Amino acid sequence: MGSSVIRVAINGFGTIGKRVADAVDAQDDMEVAGVTKTGPSFGCSLAAKKGYPLYCTSDDPDRIASFSSGGYDCQGGLSDLLSSADVVVDCAPGKMGAANLAKYEAAGIKHMFQGGEKHELTGLSYTSSANHTENLNARGTRVVSCNTTGLSRTLVPLYEIGDSLRVECTMIRRAADPGDSKKGPINAIKPVLKVPSHHGPDVMTVKPEIEINSLAVAVPTTLMHVHAIIADLPTGHGQTTESILDLWRQTPRVIVMHGESDRLTTTAEVMEMARDIGRKWGDLHEVFVWEDGVKLVGDRLYYFQAIHQESDVIPENIDCIRALMGVESDWKASVAKTDSAISDYYGL
Ligand code: NAD
Repeated sequence: MGSSVIRVAINGFGTIGKRVADAVDAQDDMEVAGVTKTGPSFGCSLAAKKGYPLYCTSDDPDRIASFSSGGYDCQGGLSDLLSSADVVVDCAPGKMGAANLAKYEAAGIKHMFQGGEKHELTGLSYTSSANHTENLNARGTRVVSCNTTGLSRTLVPLYEIGDSLRVECTMIRRAADPGDSKKGPINAIKPVLKVPSHHGPDVMTVKPEIEINSLAVAVPTTLMHVHAIIADLPTGHGQTTESILDLWRQTPRVIVMHGESDRLTTTAEVMEMARDIGRKWGDLHEVFVWEDGVKLVGDRLYYFQAIHQESDVIPENIDCIRALMGVESDWKASVAKTDSAISDYYGL
């Protein structure tokens, strides 16, 4: 510790954890101190192949010893990892936050949770464009969920047009991640009967000035979420559909493409395009906006956007590390550094 390179522990090496590890590995101002698994499994091979030191999620000596049965070299328990790192990124399954927070506090380490935890756990949440500054030098925070991250990316610039924004939106959610066999529905549309859903109001944990409510339905797909959004823009700023599109074209981590002429009319084609881009796992860190699905009627804006749920929060986690460590106060500078390092990492 104390070196200029930030040592990052990643607790939980699943869908989000393995992606955060690679994104950290891509940066020149941070390094992977280690990753944790609950026991020997294929995921340990992935860590070994990348050279990430492997630790157990528990300090139990029997659990630590069990890794050798799979031929894996486990360096110790979570406490050992925490003592050798500057910050821990919690990528454990949702709702484990309270138990893990106690461990991080006992170890005296800075900590970041993911969107499966509630804002109340840390009393602070994060997205790069909304509130990087508020998170500078904080002890702990939460990177908001994939949906909330995606909403913030396109809504914060709309809010900044005239410092007001009212939003109603519907989240059309993927039922499960591609690697997940336990969730559903597989042949139904499942409305979230808690109205409003938590997604829209969660934006207000990072940008309280945006008035927003949401409905949500889960549909039988694994690829992406789609958001159908209606936003009432501030009046008197001379906006047009084209000026809004131009605003998003200049916004980091937002891709605007034409559904009909680019032949990207569904999430299937969008994800095929993402695979063509060449990031690992076919990830798409950017929010995808269909140009031909955007229309301003008076001051009311209608649009659709698609979210690659497994990856849009990954670059946000990197910016958040810089915020907590107080090494970059300008969110746009951090975003540019993060994204360029990830592009170089994959030779794009
Ligand atoms: P996951 O199930 O794919 O991975 C979780 C990992 O944590 C697994 O490797 C699991 O073995 C490990 N683990 C189990 N118990 C643990 C413990 N006590 N301590 C540490 N690790 C433990 O889950 P995920 O999809 O990566 O989700 C992680 C977090 O990210 C959740 O809060 C989730 O809500 C959030 N998130 C998920 C997505 C997504 O689409 N998958 C998107 C954004 C945010």
